[in-house]
Order: sequence, then structure tokens, then C-alpha cells
Amino acid sequence: MNILNICSPCMKCCIGTDIRLIDEDISRWEKEDRLDILLAINPHFGGSRQLIKKQDNDECIFLLKDGRCRINGTKPYICKIFPQSQKQADVFECTYLIKELMAKKQLDADDAIQSP
Ligand code: SF4
Ligand code: SF4
Repeated sequence: MNILNICSPCMKCCIGTDIRLIDEDISRWEKEDRLDILLAINPHFGGSRQLIKKQDNDECIFLLKDGRCRINGTKPYICKIFPQSQKQADVFECTYLIKELMAKKQLDADDAIQSP
């Protein structure tokens, strides 16, 4: 759910998961006039929780066939911060953390080469 060129075509965390919303998600979409997203919310699903609807195949309604997120620029907070821990990454077999660490290592190495 993070940087798409790192995630794609994984999609594991966009399938079969409950995408829980926070109040800031709702107010941001209201400000952005994103009726398309607001209409994709299950307002009372599972009690007071607000969730993004899923497709019949259990994929998030905003997941595109090529693995991209249709609302990437304004996706839910929970999607922006996933994975929050190595444990969560392990459960989803998420490769994002590993790739992110590798990318950071490469940046550090590049910086070290460029430093006088
Ligand atoms: S909103 Fe986007 S990132 Fe979040 S689960 Fe749906 S497709 Fe994935
Ligand atoms: S499980 Fe990890 S690598 Fe896969 S889409 Fe989600 S964040 Fe990206």
C-alpha cells in the first residue's frame, strides 16, 4: 500500500483486508469533494467502524487490475502507514520494508560516494 513502484504488483494488503477509516480520512475527502470515495464507504459495517467497500472477489474497490491504487494521492491513512511493523509485514509477506531498507542503503551509499 505504500510507494507503488515498490509495491506493485504485490497487492497483498489490498485484498481481503478491512480498510478501516479515521475521521481525518472522511473530512479530507469531504474537503476534496471526493463523492466517489465517500460513496464507497460502508458506514456501519461491523458496528461503528467505517470501512472501504470490497469487490465481490474481496479486493478493495479501489484496487486496479495492474496493482495500482485508484485513489493513491488521497488513500486512507491506514494504507499510507502500512506496514506499521515487521510483524505486520511478516503476516502479509510484505516485501515493502525490505525493499525500502535496500533503497535507503543505496541512497546512503550514493551519498557516501558523493561526499568529499
Ligand atoms: S485504498 Fe488503495 S492502497 Fe488502500 S486497500 Fe484500497 S487499493 Fe489498496
Ligand atoms: S503487502 Fe507490502 S509490498 Fe505488498 S502491496 Fe502491501 S505494502 Fe506493498
